[in-house]
Amino acid sequence: MRFPLSMTVGMGAYIAKNKISPRPEWQKTVAESSDAANPFKIIMHARAGEAPEFVHPMINKRFPLVLMLEPLHACNLTCTGCGRIREYESTITQRLSVEQCMKAVDECGAPTISICGGEPMLYPEIGRLVSEILGRGKNIILCTNGMFIRKKVGQFKPDSKFFFNVHLDGLEKNHDISVEREGVYKEAIEGIKIAKQHGFKVCTNTTVYKETDMKEIEELYTYLETLSVDGFLISPAYGYSAVNQRDIFMTREDVMEKFKDIDRLAKRFRINNTPTYLDFLKGDRKLPCTAWGNPTYNVKGWKGPCYLITDAHYDTFEELMTKTQWNHYGEGNDPRCDHCMVHCGYEPSAALGINSKITDTIKLMSWAFR
Ligand code: SF4
Repeated sequence: MRFPLSMTVGMGAYIAKNKISPRPEWQKTVAESSDAANPFKIIMHARAGEAPEFVHPMINKRFPLVLMLEPLHACNLTCTGCGRIREYESTITQRLSVEQCMKAVDECGAPTISICGGEPMLYPEIGRLVSEILGRGKNIILCTNGMFIRKKVGQFKPDSKFFFNVHLDGLEKNHDISVEREGVYKEAIEGIKIAKQHGFKVCTNTTVYKETDMKEIEELYTYLETLSVDGFLISPAYGYSAVNQRDIFMTREDVMEKFKDIDRLAKRFRINNTPTYLDFLKGDRKLPCTAWGNPTYNVKGWKGPCYLITDAHYDTFEELMTKTQWNHYGEGNDPRCDHCMVHCGYEPSAALGINSKITDTIKLMSWAFR
């Protein structure tokens, strides 16, 4: 199975419960105009020009799936594509307390917590934070550059709901260029080996840039398989406002070209993105932005509208859900969103079956149980 059975079943039950009885207050933010009937701009066609499909019942149903929890923004690296160290320069030394993190976990209620940052392994109480979140029965994806696994692995206990997610954008030379420091790849690989030796589940997270050669990603995955890595997450780089070097980022057309062969990779390797999202990257499927599915919490509060762009920080999750004009975002609604295809903005649409076809269910099941 791609993920432990308890995780797959738990996520399925959570989605079903929220589909059947969505929280009414979270569905109220509607546009001022004729968009009121379709606040998420959910597209009724699989592709422009095709026959209309049925109107999906997920219209008017918003709820969180994955909380992006950033206990701190400090990092030991200055990666080229990272907006955090630039956007949060003024609060780079601040961090949330474990209590503040747990309040956000409880407030949001998402079944999966992605602990990110900054480099979360620099958070002094990372072991306690992970243990408390697991104590709530949540799944954890700990996103790290891998450089501190060797030193801090003793702070964690293996758990079927806990994954290290190590950032690797290529093989040694290109990964070290992307993180702007030599030796990072070697240390991350050491971290993966040590985590596996200690019985942890380990995935990797790869951002594909304009210059990325997909053959190199195939070589990287082939090598990581020899280390028994449990899965690979992949996402196209998107040039959002907090990042300076925009020439490394791709347009939608670039992304479709880059990912045109992704099915072959997905057959060969354990890619953790859903097949529907991969269809979206290839341009075979339209998906609406469902950024509300992956809310972000950090030292400034609940970041709206999404992980990438910031128009406001709210004190409470309730405010994020009810005050954000969700229908103002996504392709065609906000120029900043026009080329965005990142998994944290669109994977919830795929997971929730928005704009789905009958065959998607079969594909999703065989993906989940592979
Ligand atoms: S499309 Fe969605 S996820 Fe992407 S930048 Fe816009 S609001 Fe954020």
